Amino acid sequence: MGQLNRTQSARHYQKALSLFPGGVNSPVRAFKGVGGTPLFFARGKGSRVWDEDGNEFLDFCNSWGPLIHGHAHPYVEEKIIKTLKNGSSFGAPTRLENELGQMLKERLPHVEKMRFVSSGTEAVMSALRLARGYTQKAKILKFEGCYHGHVDSLLVKAGSGLVTLGTSSSAGVPDSIAQETLVLPLNDIELLEQTFKAYGNELAAAIIEPVPANNGLLLQDLSFLQCLRSLCWKHKVLLIFDEVISGFRVAFGGAVELYGIQPDIVTYGKIIGGGLPVGAYGGSCEIMACVSPDGPVYQAGTLSGNPVAMAAGIAQLELCMAPDFYREMEAKTRGFVERINAYSKVKGYPFELVSLASIFWLSFNGKKTIHRADEIDPNMSSFNRLHDYLLNHGIYLGPSGYEVGFVSSAHSVEELTHAAQLFCHGLDLLYAGA
Ligand SMILES: *Cc1c(COP(=O)(O)O)cnc(C)c1O
Repeated sequence: MGQLNRTQSARHYQKALSLFPGGVNSPVRAFKGVGGTPLFFARGKGSRVWDEDGNEFLDFCNSWGPLIHGHAHPYVEEKIIKTLKNGSSFGAPTRLENELGQMLKERLPHVEKMRFVSSGTEAVMSALRLARGYTQKAKILKFEGCYHGHVDSLLVKAGSGLVTLGTSSSAGVPDSIAQETLVLPLNDIELLEQTFKAYGNELAAAIIEPVPANNGLLLQDLSFLQCLRSLCWKHKVLLIFDEVISGFRVAFGGAVELYGIQPDIVTYGKIIGGGLPVGAYGGSCEIMACVSPDGPVYQAGTLSGNPVAMAAGIAQLELCMAPDFYREMEAKTRGFVERINAYSKVKGYPFELVSLASIFWLSFNGKKTIHRADEIDPNMSSFNRLHDYLLNHGIYLGPSGYEVGFVSSAHSVEELTHAAQLFCHGLDLLYAGA
């Protein structure tokens, strides 16, 4: 494999193996997908990161999405430090929560009230409890290929049969919990209609990533999302948009703004915290009135609304509000993606980047756009070889072929052009003699 010097990373990894399961605090970091020693990072600035061996990389992982302005953006950094100097946590209200809350409420018509939490998982978990409390129903509908954090009810995969009750996809999730979740393939209107007909009166909520970006980039037909919206209304099922990735990424207002479809509850994470741990869920005043202390649905958090994290989120989102910010991010990403795709097409390679806004995914199966998880080619050997080549040439992609890459506002056009050239050369080597 690679020539990259990983001496220090390997040393830290050996130590970590004695401390953490798999040597990591979140599984994908272990490099199991691509093989080899995970890199231990020492520093990040703008579009670049440096590992413990001093290797420098152009970073397309960006902490899996949160860092839309790259690493240690001066404005975000300054706000964090200034706030931190006044104390890091009080377990009591601060005006920074109001400031971020007001910023969101003014710009997100589907968020009349919200609650801040500390992770995307926590936002989703709380949203499900709220939906069940509000509707007084128990079952949840989810879609194969969407990821919603490590929530028990959603660590569930389809069983056998067409419209299926879930079976757990993780040890430790009892069948009794998994069976409260229904799992459907994405983008299939017919199955959706059948399912609502059969189970509509038992469903508390349908949860979906409106831009599924955790298992490839599985763009959905607008008609499918619209159908889901109207079926939820018809059967009094709450529609939850999990916008932990897509929120503030595909547009400031996420997929809601992009597609013009309003959910009943929305969840945010990643970008909203400016690189610190923040999640949020929100909806109409009527639904949010069920949350304690106003209502009977209990939900709390010692570090919720943490002032330092709020300051980071405010600073990062202020930068996102610059005129034409999202248009420029998209244009920059499109230039990068189209350069690589045009090359791949001329060469006849069965490869292309699928992309939306500043998100891209490496598709090796030769299909233009795929909509469902079962259309992804499970053989990741091509991704793994390209990943290795790019890593050895100073480009860091998340270490799994199922994950998407992110362009940040810190990436310059020159850097993207250089990266595109490396992608093209990597493809040449990959397909040489094939
Ligand atoms: C990352 C992610 C989560 C989980 O967020 P964490 O902060 O990792 O708990 C939930 N939903 C989606 C769509 C995500 O991408």
